[in-house]
Amino acid sequence: MRRWSELAERVAATTRTSAKTDLLAAYFRSLAPDELPIAAVFLTGRAFAETDQRATGLGWAAISTAVANVAGVGRDVLGAAYDRFSDLGRAVEAVLVEAGHAPDPASSPTLPEVAAAFAAIETASGAAAKGVILEELLARSDPETAKGITKVVSGDLRIGLREGLVEAALAKAFDRPLDAVKRAGMLTGDIGETARLARDDALGTAGLALFRPLKFMLASPAEDAVEIVRRLGPVVWVEDKYDGIRAQLHKRGTDIRLYSRDLHDITSGYPEVVAGARGLPWDGILDGELLGFREGVVLPFVALQARLGRKSPPPGLLAEVPVVYVAFDVLGLGSGGEADVDPLLDLPLATRRERLVGLGLPLADAGGVFALSHLVSADSADALEAAFLAARARRNEGLMVKDPTSLYSPGRRGYGWLKMKKALATIDCVVVGVEVGHGRRHGVLSDYTFAVRDEASDRLVTIGKAYSGLTDAEIAEMTRWFEAHTISRHGRYRLVEPSVVVEVAFDVILRSARHTSGFALRFPRIARLRPDKAAAEADTLATVARLFQELQPGAERLVTAGARAAAVPPRRAATSPRATRTVGDG
Ligand code: AMP
Repeated sequence: MRRWSELAERVAATTRTSAKTDLLAAYFRSLAPDELPIAAVFLTGRAFAETDQRATGLGWAAISTAVANVAGVGRDVLGAAYDRFSDLGRAVEAVLVEAGHAPDPASSPTLPEVAAAFAAIETASGAAAKGVILEELLARSDPETAKGITKVVSGDLRIGLREGLVEAALAKAFDRPLDAVKRAGMLTGDIGETARLARDDALGTAGLALFRPLKFMLASPAEDAVEIVRRLGPVVWVEDKYDGIRAQLHKRGTDIRLYSRDLHDITSGYPEVVAGARGLPWDGILDGELLGFREGVVLPFVALQARLGRKSPPPGLLAEVPVVYVAFDVLGLGSGGEADVDPLLDLPLATRRERLVGLGLPLADAGGVFALSHLVSADSADALEAAFLAARARRNEGLMVKDPTSLYSPGRRGYGWLKMKKALATIDCVVVGVEVGHGRRHGVLSDYTFAVRDEASDRLVTIGKAYSGLTDAEIAEMTRWFEAHTISRHGRYRLVEPSVVVEVAFDVILRSARHTSGFALRFPRIARLRPDKAAAEADTLATVARLFQELQPGAERLVTAGARAAAVPPRRAATSPRATRTVGDG
């Protein structure tokens, strides 16, 4: 593990991409067979592979307690160090160096030992038991090794490395075509397994597997209808953009599973979908959206929110907020039996859609639990505008514009799919600081300072501060969360663990020296929590800069209109935490 940490440090200190690739390739070649997959997974900032359902479940509190115990200092010492570096790994290293922590190098943990400790942390129940295992691991590690372990366990490497670079380095290390490595990475969703296949010259054997979720294909934002038709045209496919929960449905016989965008198994939360899919005569993988839908009417996202994260929803909630699965893609199909599914990813969307329609899914209006995404084709900006209004009239968020010839590219945000919400008056930000509110919000942490990602420096840069537009119940719940994940306190202000994503609505973007991003938002308001998004999925500084350009005064009218259309809950009116009250309100 010590060598891994040193390598990570060298990668961080190197700016040229080709030099980073060379460093990594040489390192990969030098590893033993049992080390290679672990090193590769750790280099993507994960303790476990992306499609692995396991997580260590260690938060700031557990990590800081373990470090404080090893260093023999108070937890506030780590908080102060974090303030200095804004990098937990570096902060841990500094605290341990200062404490003179120098364990016997012979006891320094190997990569497999660290991986085994992470597995043990995952199975240990309770924060205390998990913390003890981490503490033992850190006690054996010199400060540099501890830095590496902390970076992996906190999922925050900050060494300027993307998965694409790790793939490029694997291709180089074992002299394999980059495309073959990428394809295997896409199909296995496991960079460790991909590394093993690359080394063994077995990349061709990677396949789609049922119950191993695939990364989702993503869409790029687009506003301008003329530009969209120009880019994807002459004829584009236009689907409604549903405001629900993205989910991949895997089915083999009567075994049905649903996976969320972050590839977690969310099956137990949606028993009606499982029951509705069970009897169907095919095996395969669908891509689609779980959507609140009752008596023929689409329910707003706030209603569905009550079901987010509920492992076993009570019957009352199931009746109040029933869901349908709106299928828009099919990624693999099998012919039954033990054989796994044949991938359909490399077929054009038009063919995949034919296969999807051919499944004859039992639709909601005939008592089933499925719907097919509403699809029309458009060949002009006017047709697109008309489709947009029609989608809004069906109570959907906007449009997804798709190129019918596009292939399915897992995990990529390409231009094959464009999302058109019109109201790009929202951006997804990470909460980095909180404060207690005023007046009625006295005593709760309701004022949020939020940031976007600066990809160049791999840091979060602040862009604004807003009173929460969340419900009282959400604010209370978030207050508890922020209290448990406070990194340090500065008077009223608390620096918090940067992992909560909020969708922020605003009117205009301005240049401003007040925030580290160099931008500020006019009239920012928290539209909603985005528990479905990880901090790494928040919007980037580059997106903000692009929006700033696009939303110059001439465009201001559109944005303001859009902000209204974004259906931001009014701050004062949203006092009821019971989502059911809003059902049917539109
Ligand atoms: P956003 O969450 O704003 O980044 O928008 C992308 C999301 O739109 C996807 O992840 C899906 O959950 C959702 N979505 C809704 N309708 C569709 C559709 N017809 N095709 C693809 N994605 C859709």
